[in-house]
Amino acid sequence: MNLRIPGPTPLPPEIMAAMQKEMIDHRGPEFAALGKRIIASLKDICQTSGDVLLFTCSGTGGLEAAVVNTLSPGDRVVAFAAGWFGDRLAAIAEAYGAQVEKVVFPQGARIEPAQVTETLRGQKNVKAVLVTHNETSTGVLHPLKAIAEAVRAETDAVLIVDAVSSFLATEIAMDAWGIDVLVTGSQKALMCPPGVAMVAVGKRAWDAHQHAKMPRFYFDFAENKQWGDLGQTAYTPAMSVYFAMDAALELIQREGVDNVYARHARVADLTRELASEIGYELFPQPRDSSPTVTALKVPAGLDGEEIRRIAREEFDTILGGAQGNLKGKLIRIGHLGFAHEPEIQAAMDVLHQATQRARERAKA
Ligand SMILES: *Cc1c(COP(=O)(O)O)cnc(C)c1O
Repeated sequence: MNLRIPGPTPLPPEIMAAMQKEMIDHRGPEFAALGKRIIASLKDICQTSGDVLLFTCSGTGGLEAAVVNTLSPGDRVVAFAAGWFGDRLAAIAEAYGAQVEKVVFPQGARIEPAQVTETLRGQKNVKAVLVTHNETSTGVLHPLKAIAEAVRAETDAVLIVDAVSSFLATEIAMDAWGIDVLVTGSQKALMCPPGVAMVAVGKRAWDAHQHAKMPRFYFDFAENKQWGDLGQTAYTPAMSVYFAMDAALELIQREGVDNVYARHARVADLTRELASEIGYELFPQPRDSSPTVTALKVPAGLDGEEIRRIAREEFDTILGGAQGNLKGKLIRIGHLGFAHEPEIQAAMDVLHQATQRARERAKA
């Protein structure tokens, strides 16, 4: 099977092998060394001198942790959203009683840094700004560095970034760019199974944590850090996923982080090139197109869900569809984590053939 959705991703054999190990004591020395290795390596990759906290949960749990640890009910929050995941982050803050001003960009468009400046200028009492780095639902990589610069120029609010589908696919310099909380999950470019969220926390976020009154228990940052510093976790971790992450980070160090970024850029370029050869148009502007997921417009008169069904049933290839109002209108090709040219070539061949079959059947 060729799994080409934007997470979970296929797993390299080394990572599958790492998960065959027997369980160990999560309060013993072997686990302490493992946990510390993972955290040190993640800190390096996101270029922070802050803390990296690990939670056993999906990426959304990490986003919820970011919100409830830095805010109080009634706090003013500005959320920049341009799709399904931007909406979700805003919805989390709303669910816990924040007063959210949502600035919405059209689906397929990017968050414009100039609009960020304009929105925040002169605003008092904004406690947090919410941004999605890579909008997986539309295949758009937002210009995070410029967005963060715009935020930092206007406000001391905590900048919370959903980097679930961009982390490890493109550089993020957390401290240099002024990001306060950076969230990712194990099942995206880290090429592990789902189960662990990483939340990197900087000084401004820790200061906010002191006064943050949103209810929390499992997701409390201070509790997590206290145990993390001891080389333990507060609660039983997803042990097999930790084994996988350790193996993944070793593979990544061996390849070289910069080479991992370059590979993502190369594979994304190839995907776009092949898409254009088979008559597909990009949904976003080429400038904004993501290094981890390519969103393509389904040709007029065809149903994307039918094309995906043919790919799945007749070619054993799983392509991404779209959520909400875009369902049937987009096909998304995931190329994050364990992704190289041959699998992409194969998936795009399948897309070509499945589209032709769908077209013939639509005529018949
Ligand atoms: C995958 C993803 C998430 C997290 O989803 P979970 O299913 O909770 O792991 C969050 N944000 C973005 C942008 C994503 O791509």
